Amino acid sequence: MLIIETIEEMRAWSAAQKKSGNRIGFVPTMGCLHDGHLSLVNIARQQNQTVVLSIFVNPLQFGASEDYSIYPRTEETDHELAASAGVDVVFQPGFQEMYPVYPPLTTVQVSGITDRLCGASRHGHFNGVTTVVCKLFQIVAPDSAYFGQKDYQQALVIRRMARDLDLPVHVQMAPIIREADGLAMSSRNRYLTESQRREAICLSQALKLAKELFDTGERRSAPILEAMIKRIQASPSAVIDYVELCDLENLEPVEIIEGPVVLALAVFFGKTRLIDNLILE
Ligand code: AMP
Repeated sequence: MLIIETIEEMRAWSAAQKKSGNRIGFVPTMGCLHDGHLSLVNIARQQNQTVVLSIFVNPLQFGASEDYSIYPRTEETDHELAASAGVDVVFQPGFQEMYPVYPPLTTVQVSGITDRLCGASRHGHFNGVTTVVCKLFQIVAPDSAYFGQKDYQQALVIRRMARDLDLPVHVQMAPIIREADGLAMSSRNRYLTESQRREAICLSQALKLAKELFDTGERRSAPILEAMIKRIQASPSAVIDYVELCDLENLEPVEIIEGPVVLALAVFFGKTRLIDNLILE
């Protein structure tokens, strides 16, 4: 496995792969790898001859009061996990390499769908994400890029960016990988105290409860959301940011389920903000 730190070297490697007719699958991450990330690598591996995984904690997508400076950095373990998952290249540019002048004056903004859900409580977050992902797409030049449904809104926004800007990348979304007790895997789970970790299973349980209601024929969003909120609020340290039922494509709130929807939630446990979601079709 190669570790590449410069844009120039990354571009040269990708150009050589293209010349040999190899498809490049790309998995962008912020490191602190877990099985969620590795599941994306697995899919990329199956669909491409080569796989690039990037590790870059992108300051542009963190708010001033968010966890940029303390975001977990676990380089050595990340390299071991990436190598054993079959990654060909870890692209890990430093801050200076990605942003020689900071902040950049040119950014990529997807409007509308970024105003809702996480965009409503994390102003500027998605602009940071689309800007860095657009830059990474230009550098790595992948055929396909893989994103987790765990960050459903993010995957939707990136897919839209690629479509609107004619970026020649096939954006794919892969299922959420969970811990044995149902908690969606996340690099941020390691911030949780033992008791918060125990309580955090209320998120997947609330989604499960919603699915049960849906499966018994409930199509009104109000009773579904009410049941979920009640379940989450039964955990003393949970503070809800949002619990919403939205159209799968435009993320507008839905009152009666008539087509595919996403149930999405963000909940604080102390300072740690966790997200999870479920698609109902
Ligand atoms: P991050 O390092 O948190 O920015 O995540 C990098 C990629 O991994 C994003 O596309 C995430 O959606 C995806 N990802 C993170 N957690 C999971 C998970 N539990 N299951 C599937 N994909 C995930």
